[in-house]
Amino acid sequence: MPEEYRFKALVARSVPIGDTVNLLTVLSAEYGKKTVRCYGARKPSGRVMSAVQPFCYSEFLVTEKDGRWTLREVGLLANFYELRNDMLALSLGTYMLDLACECARENVNESSLLSLTLNCLFVLSRKAATPDTVKAVFELRLLAEQGCAVVYKNCARCGGALGDGCAFSAKDGGIVCADCRDVDPDGRYLPAGGSERLALTHIELSPLKQLFSFRITDACLTRLSAIAEESTLYYFEHDFESLRYYKEIKETLSDT
Ligand SMILES: [Zn+2]
Repeated sequence: MPEEYRFKALVARSVPIGDTVNLLTVLSAEYGKKTVRCYGARKPSGRVMSAVQPFCYSEFLVTEKDGRWTLREVGLLANFYELRNDMLALSLGTYMLDLACECARENVNESSLLSLTLNCLFVLSRKAATPDTVKAVFELRLLAEQGCAVVYKNCARCGGALGDGCAFSAKDGGIVCADCRDVDPDGRYLPAGGSERLALTHIELSPLKQLFSFRITDACLTRLSAIAEESTLYYFEHDFESLRYYKEIKETLSDT
C-alpha cells in the first residue's frame, strides 16, 4: 500500500513534463524540500491548477510509491496573488524562492526557512516595505539562519573592536576594522558604519514578526543592500538568473 502524507507547503517551481504531468518543487515545514508529481496542473477548469502555481501556499495530500510523491488532493490556503500585478515584486519573489530552494534540504524540518519565506513574501505582496528592503532583509536573515550571519560585532578579520573607518568585506565574512581594511590587495571593501551595524543586529536577532520594524535612511539601505547581495553571492558561489532579471526590471523602471 502506498503511504499517504498530508502537509502544508509553498510551491516554488512547477515544471511541465510531457503532456499531463508537472513536477512541483514545494517547501514544507515537516519534510523540507520535496518534488511532487502533479496531474492536472494545466487544466484551467480544474481545482488543482489554482493551488499548484508558484507562490501558492497549499495543503497537499500525496501518496508515496518507490520514493516518488504523487499529488492526490490539494487545497489553496494563500497565493500572494498581488505579486502577479507587479513585475518588480514578482521577479524579486522568484529570486527569493530560488534562494529558499537552494537552502532547503529534503526530509529535514525546514519550518524556520518556510516561515521566513512566507513572512517576506507577505510583506512584499502587501507592499508593507519596499522591494529593496525586503530583498536585503530576506538575504541577510537567510544567511543568518544558514549559520553564516554577516559578522558585525567585532572585526571579522582580527576580532578587534570596530571603530571609525571600518568596511565590509564578503571574503572576510563581515565588517573589518580600519587596520584590517584594505590589507588584502585583491579584496573588495564596501562602506559600512554604525547604522548598518545596527540594522544588521536587528535583522539577525529580531523575532520574525518584528523583522521589518526598523527604519533606516535611503543611503543606509543602499549600503545595506550592497552588503546583503555581496554576502549572498559569496555564500552561494554563483549568480542567479532571477536576480539578474530583477535588476533589469528595476533599471528599466528607473529609466521611465
Ligand atoms: Zn581588524
